[in-house]
Amino acid sequence: MKLFMHWDMEGVSGLFTREHAWYWEEGARPETGQEGRELLIADVNSAVAAALRAGVDELIVCDTHHGGGNIRPDRMLTDPRVTYLQRSVGEQDGLTRWMPGLDDTVDGLMLPGHHARAGTEGAFLPHTWTLEWSDFRINGRSVGEMGIEACFAGHWDVPLAMVQGDEAACREAREQFPGVVTAAVKRAETPDLCSGLDAESARQLTAQKVAEAVQRLRAGGCQPFKPDLPMTVAVSFVSADKADEAARRPGVRRAGDRTVEARLERHCDVVKWLLGVGLP
Ligand SMILES: [Zn+2]
Repeated sequence: MKLFMHWDMEGVSGLFTREHAWYWEEGARPETGQEGRELLIADVNSAVAAALRAGVDELIVCDTHHGGGNIRPDRMLTDPRVTYLQRSVGEQDGLTRWMPGLDDTVDGLMLPGHHARAGTEGAFLPHTWTLEWSDFRINGRSVGEMGIEACFAGHWDVPLAMVQGDEAACREAREQFPGVVTAAVKRAETPDLCSGLDAESARQLTAQKVAEAVQRLRAGGCQPFKPDLPMTVAVSFVSADKADEAARRPGVRRAGDRTVEARLERHCDVVKWLLGVGLP
């Protein structure tokens, strides 16, 4: 069994404030950002150990938060079965692409550390890709980053098996991906603050859910997310000038004051039409 674990940071164990996750924002203290990254590193090591204990033969671990660069190679659990990617854009077969290594040899996708989509009530740091997007829709259905990433993985029929995050992120995952196993490690108090299990208990819960997800994959209990093709993908922006800019890209059409859309033939092109990120 081969897994691809794509890590974000908003949803990790014991991380409760905006400043810990969005450490690049003005006024954020460097030591608080460092604490956030330490929580991520501890979570990654714990979940990787759980996957190996569950009998996973090969594991690709990718750091995607703020473009990556949060995990430290010298701090990670070392095992010949595990490959760490410090960024989510990298090389495969000499070509630059998103999530290198995610292909038809992978049996399951895991999305730990994730957050709910833009606009979700009662969620911690809800957003979709950037704060400039107010909504992202595939064939008319609103999805967040989990939906975007699961759709990309759907190109190779790779199912989403596990999500870790706050209660809102886990609810979103269960609604959109029947069969997905979720680890809800916290709940929002406000969009910028949450509370929940202490980091150690949250890691234990997540480890248990990783093992459960591996079992479910073995039993064929997770389905790939493959919206009907050709698919219509639309993005609504917070401001009209961002929509103006996006509408100038080839193949992108205006679908409203603040909305653009494109019609796509492949699941792996889910964000490429707008951001250039995907497969070459
Ligand atoms: Zn993030």
